[in-house]
Amino acid sequence: MKTFLRIISFARPLGFFVPQYILFTILYIIFGLINFVALIPLMRVLFNTVDHEKMINAELPSAFELSASWIEQTFNHYMGQVILSYGMLGALQFVCIIIVSSVLISNLFGYLAGVLLAKVRANVIQKIRNTVFEKITLLHLGFFTNEKKGDITSKLTNDVQQIESTVVDTLKVLFRDPFQIIAQFAFLFYLSTSLTFYSLILLPISGALIANIVKKLKRKATEGQASLGRITSIVDETLSGMRLIKAFTARPYVVKKFSKEIDSYAKINVSMARKTELASPVSEFFGAVAIAVVLLIGGSLILSENSTLSAEEFITFIIVFGRVLQPAKSITNAVSNIQRGLASGERVFQLVDLKPEIKDDPNAVPLPPFSKSIKFQNVSFAYDTERVLKDINFEVPKGGTLALVGPSGGGKSTLADLVPRFYDPIEGKVLIDEMDLCMVTIDSLRSQLGVVTQESILFNDSIFNNIAFGMENASEEDVIKAAKIANAHDFIVDMDYGYQTNIGERGTKLSGGQRQRISIARAVMKNPAILILDEATSALDSESEKLVQEALTKLMANRTSIVIAHRLSTIQHADKILVIDKGSIVEDGNHEQLMRSGGIYKKLIELQNF
Ligand code: ADP
Repeated sequence: MKTFLRIISFARPLGFFVPQYILFTILYIIFGLINFVALIPLMRVLFNTVDHEKMINAELPSAFELSASWIEQTFNHYMGQVILSYGMLGALQFVCIIIVSSVLISNLFGYLAGVLLAKVRANVIQKIRNTVFEKITLLHLGFFTNEKKGDITSKLTNDVQQIESTVVDTLKVLFRDPFQIIAQFAFLFYLSTSLTFYSLILLPISGALIANIVKKLKRKATEGQASLGRITSIVDETLSGMRLIKAFTARPYVVKKFSKEIDSYAKINVSMARKTELASPVSEFFGAVAIAVVLLIGGSLILSENSTLSAEEFITFIIVFGRVLQPAKSITNAVSNIQRGLASGERVFQLVDLKPEIKDDPNAVPLPPFSKSIKFQNVSFAYDTERVLKDINFEVPKGGTLALVGPSGGGKSTLADLVPRFYDPIEGKVLIDEMDLCMVTIDSLRSQLGVVTQESILFNDSIFNNIAFGMENASEEDVIKAAKIANAHDFIVDMDYGYQTNIGERGTKLSGGQRQRISIARAVMKNPAILILDEATSALDSESEKLVQEALTKLMANRTSIVIAHRLSTIQHADKILVIDKGSIVEDGNHEQLMRSGGIYKKLIELQNF
């Protein structure tokens, strides 16, 4: 119920929608009932069971009141007038016109209510998608492991879709049909209290049976959506790793993995269908039993001498009772359908409710423009339990270049990730200008940082937008200037649409070096005081490396940089080099000092020269 209300709460503000909806629905129901009310006099006229003289003389009730007898008297009065003026056939036509117009008006309001609900539905789904997406972008980096990516995609697509097609779609049923049932039952009670009462006895039995089915359904639905998440993961992984899969002839392995998951999903679906499909026959059967009971009891009432129920009332009763069953059945189906949507809703809200691990402290202040130094003070860090960084201490003055070198897996990238606060240290402090980064606002910190990584990440957008990334009002002049500094201008203007060339379409035509230079232009454009370069040239051939290295040197001029380098030749002029191994600083100094001391660094240099 909580999940349901939470989904509905996305429909806010309801103030505008609810009054209109209630009005439309009430009119829909009232006009829907009028044609049944008109049935009784119609049959009376046809079967001649009423004294026409009495009808013709029926007085118009003096004061309006909302009661069945007022409606009946008013109706009788006008009916009498019609019989008087147009005869019996005319009365028949009159009743038929009333029936047709009331059905028309009723359905018109039904349509308006439907459209209103469709707007709410679109609004709810849009808000849920936006909320989930915004939430995802807030979560810390460590959250996005491969396994979770597929599940997140699945939640944003499949689960939201499921919510739409079950919960939101059934709103119509849930917000209209109960009113309809109440109105129809009120009418039935008016026709015959005892008969209505007997026909109601069956409801709890059928209700209990269906509630039991529904409970099991939700558990299955949760399993089903989780399985769908894993399927999305497998597809996602396979598509991005296709080259590797082919190279390693791992096709049979992935195909088997996929078909196993699909198989389990299919089984869950069948098992779910067994339960969903059961809801409808159960309610159908009990509906038929209810009608039989009504026929039996009603029939014997009529057969008995002192019956208060007239034949036309009985016929109308059966017709309206048959109509009551319809919304009752659709409510039953809706309730069983909703379970699947609620299971999806819970999955989606799990994501929405995650607390971002990295967030602004309530007392956080903006970081003033960088002026003195970056400092690590007794910093330790662990992703899980094992420490990846142990007691790291160093300081880089403004304008300096710090290089991190060492064996792979030593902790260099992790160390660099602590500066933009992609992660927070578990012990110690990272300080900029003596301010603890945990106490400054994340935006003010990141706005002073630029990052260029080994894998240049470009978005499916124009080159212009990729360079001006995230800046609303970037001028063409600035973008071109940045591209020139990054040695990218020449190849960009050679492309078909220059700066407006779409990278998504042209992505394959860009070489690694070209992509990297666009990434560098992006960093130039941002003009950050502090730069983090993570193996920025290691994936390139020597020709592109030269161009990229040149671009990087220009980018690094007059900035403070932390450089993770694989090719040691690129960092020989760094002011300070830290050799990181197994999470600790094992050597530090500049190139000459480290060469003289003859430790790991010297060995690494010799290895590369060799
Ligand atoms: P380097 O950049 O020196 O190659 P990393 O900082 O990438 O080293 O990795 C240091 C250690 O942390 C490695 O043992 C690696 O397996 C581990 N590691 C890196 N990223 C994660 C992560 N997101 N979750 C768990 N462990 C990680």
